[in-house]
Amino acid sequence: MSRVEPRAAAASGKTFYIETFGCQMNVHDAEKVAGTLMARGYRPVETHEEADLILYNTCSIREKAAEKVFSRLGTLKKAYRNNPKVIGVLGCVAQQEGERIFERAPQVSLVCGSASYTKLPDLLDQLEFGNKRVTGLGLDTDECFETEVTRRDNPFRAYLTIIEGCDQRCSFCVVPTTRGPERSRPSDKILAECRRLVDEGYTEIQLLGQIVNAWEDASPARRSFAELLGRVAEVPGVRRVRFTTSHPRYFTPEIVQVIDSHPALCDQIHLPVQSGSTRVLARMLRGYSREEYLAKIDCIRRAKRAISISTDIIVGFCGEAMEDFEQTMTLLDAVEYDQVFSFKYSPRPKTSAVGFGDSVPEEEKGRRLSALQEYQRQIQLRRNQAAVGHDFEVLVESFQPRLGQAVGRTTSNRVINFPGAPEWVGRYFHVRVTAAGPNSLVGVRADQADPGGVTP
Ligand code: SAM
Repeated sequence: MSRVEPRAAAASGKTFYIETFGCQMNVHDAEKVAGTLMARGYRPVETHEEADLILYNTCSIREKAAEKVFSRLGTLKKAYRNNPKVIGVLGCVAQQEGERIFERAPQVSLVCGSASYTKLPDLLDQLEFGNKRVTGLGLDTDECFETEVTRRDNPFRAYLTIIEGCDQRCSFCVVPTTRGPERSRPSDKILAECRRLVDEGYTEIQLLGQIVNAWEDASPARRSFAELLGRVAEVPGVRRVRFTTSHPRYFTPEIVQVIDSHPALCDQIHLPVQSGSTRVLARMLRGYSREEYLAKIDCIRRAKRAISISTDIIVGFCGEAMEDFEQTMTLLDAVEYDQVFSFKYSPRPKTSAVGFGDSVPEEEKGRRLSALQEYQRQIQLRRNQAAVGHDFEVLVESFQPRLGQAVGRTTSNRVINFPGAPEWVGRYFHVRVTAAGPNSLVGVRADQADPGGVTP
């Protein structure tokens, strides 16, 4: 397709609607795509009915997630048969399905994977010029998606991508083929963005990457990931720093040390294990054994601060025998996670595990998933009950008018509901926990509670 001159003016007054599926990186990509559109005159709207341009920012990590977008496209086809709109598919399904999307959904005009977002302005030029089929599907890039404008959807927590793509070859995972090779942003750019975020009023920053701790500094400073964490935490005005997702292979004791020495680094680590069986981990090509993973957990547990640990687990991976699954269950006891995100294995195109077959029947996967979730529910309940009587600092993220409850989050990523007021949203309070469930806590403001609470 030919290069056309920028036509920002052509977009002025046009509206767009963007719906996002999947991980936090997708959420943040959508914020940057929205910023790119707004910088050229598009106005965001809340529904697709009001929009001239409709975008779906998609996820293909499991089959169900990928199919969702085609169901949305089917709905749009019926709704706009006599009033066609410009429709685009972005993200992982766009990259995975490529031009096949035009066959399955001929009403789509734009198909663009995340590794091609740097080309979005060009692609938008082409659309505004009247082109009906526009694609950005190249994967061979060393560029990150930098934008002048980012529309931030969360008023308190600012996402900041430090590394894009993924070079791991986990046998179950589609990400390397949908997001392209790893490319890290230089530390000076990251730190400058943190300072800008503080100027805009953000106090919490979440650093993002598919493998966030595989980040490598391309700037002359050559900082390590742990040094970067320390530098971000030292930016004046930053009160909370989170980072996700860490891979156990790159998880070093320095990360724990820097958390210990910088109070602004949240006491929370998400460290996906995927399976408790060394045999399954080897088939998954994860690059660590059960024992090596547990050694990393031990290092986290020896920190001066109590650090909350969460994980991702896949059940029913091809060849997972009952003994392997039992190993995953005993790992739950060994680690005592504060939160577990668990999934049934879903075979994905272009992954090496597709060649292994899908040997665990769906029904059995479902049974294992329920057993694991029920067991973990009890662990979480026990761990949360141990928080009763303790005081925690929370950032209030929302207010539920019907219940008169403020919803706050601790640095360890626990949610505490407590009697509050709408104007508390965005402020920090100390809250004493009075009751606990498996997924959240209940409390009262510590300065309004009976004396005798304990700050952990
Ligand atoms: N990049 C991160 C990593 O490797 O740890 C996380 C990527 S993914 C967005 C989040 C989780 O989805 C993974 O940790 C894994 O548990 C799950 N997942 C990935 N591929 C899957 C598949 N084929 N079937 C089921 N779950 C999957």
